[in-house]
Amino acid sequence: MLQFDRHHVWHPYTSPTNPLPVYPVASADGVRLRLSDGRELIDGMSSWWCAIHGYNHPRLNAALHRQAASMAHVMFGGLTHEPAVTLARALLNITPANLQKVFFCDSGSVAVEVAMKMALQYWGAMGRPARQHFLTIRGGYHGDTLGAMSVCDPVTGMHQLFNGVVPVQFFAARPTCRNDEEWRDDDMADFRRQLAAHHNEIAAVILEPIVQGAGGMHFYAPEFLRQARKLCDEYGLLLIFDEIATGFGRTGLMFACEHADVAPDIMCLGKSITGGYMSFAATLTTEAVSEVIGRNGGVFMHGPTFMANPLACAVANASLELLLEMDLPNNIGRIRQCLERGLESCRALPNVLEVRVLGAIGVVEMTKPVNLAHIQKMFVERGVWIRPFGRLIYVMPPYIISNDELDFLTSQMFEVIKGL
Ligand code: PMP
Repeated sequence: MLQFDRHHVWHPYTSPTNPLPVYPVASADGVRLRLSDGRELIDGMSSWWCAIHGYNHPRLNAALHRQAASMAHVMFGGLTHEPAVTLARALLNITPANLQKVFFCDSGSVAVEVAMKMALQYWGAMGRPARQHFLTIRGGYHGDTLGAMSVCDPVTGMHQLFNGVVPVQFFAARPTCRNDEEWRDDDMADFRRQLAAHHNEIAAVILEPIVQGAGGMHFYAPEFLRQARKLCDEYGLLLIFDEIATGFGRTGLMFACEHADVAPDIMCLGKSITGGYMSFAATLTTEAVSEVIGRNGGVFMHGPTFMANPLACAVANASLELLLEMDLPNNIGRIRQCLERGLESCRALPNVLEVRVLGAIGVVEMTKPVNLAHIQKMFVERGVWIRPFGRLIYVMPPYIISNDELDFLTSQMFEVIKGL
């Protein structure tokens, strides 16, 4: 199987001709991945941050089986179904009150494309078609499709590779002020300058609130979001929050924008929306935005084949129920404390630049990029699943992880980092 995989199956961000080793996984249960040779790994990644309730969860399994027995999929053009409507209602109940419309789609990247298209159609319908660019901050990540890529960090976000094809957007310096630091107003200066110069060409500002994930695991001050909201209102621009990584509790509140008490005009959700069971996402917006798009018979021009897939909606409904039953701030607070305590010893290591923890996210930033194949092997040998990128060795475990399992995860991080 590994031979065939190596020669014929492409993996993410990997050479198609000389791929790094991959580990065959046979099954997964709770916070454990079981490799086909029988070894068990404690999962520190929640499968790229989405398996928040762990694997093989009886409630999620049951929801999926129940739905499969009645209807696995139907097209959403001209049809609707109870799982989708229930999910839309549930999402509107937990997201900022101004968001009133839900567009279901297939993946995080597509949710971002949909958000960008909503903003573009909005300005088209407003008679301001020149507003067709986006402003964001450096260090972001919003997905791998062309539109989403255009608002990823211009240096780490593959723009060089697709030069001339990726739309050109505006970038402001990212805030240097951390989430737990006092606000410094000069953090807003570049953003303010960009808006003053280009607001007539900008459709919307797009931001990952509080945590920039795959662009560098950078945590920043909530005040930036309040200031960004104020400036968008002053210039009459739309504000998009990409909560694909931060949504559904990861930062300790249901959505990261709650840390700033700021509501966007458009919000992207994905990843853990189905508890990590399948690819699914949603883009939410306001009555005001949808009213403008719908003016003079306007229609929103997007409609994926698997829009509102009933299996995904059913499992998302079950995942949301589990989340709402959980004492989220306390549980994420418990994970945060364990991560802080467990990663403290890494601070003193000479190859470590910084250790930072926010919610259920623990990051060790190294002074130099790590050798992925080497470090991956060491983690697997020590019974944990942690997949670093660049200089970042980080964990985002499932919320069901126990304190002992967290201690094991962080102690293995320390040992591996110490031995590098
Ligand atoms: N936005 C953010 C903030 C993300 O973290 C990601 C995925 N890492 C995406 C968008 C893209 O999501 P997907 O991989 O599901 O397309």
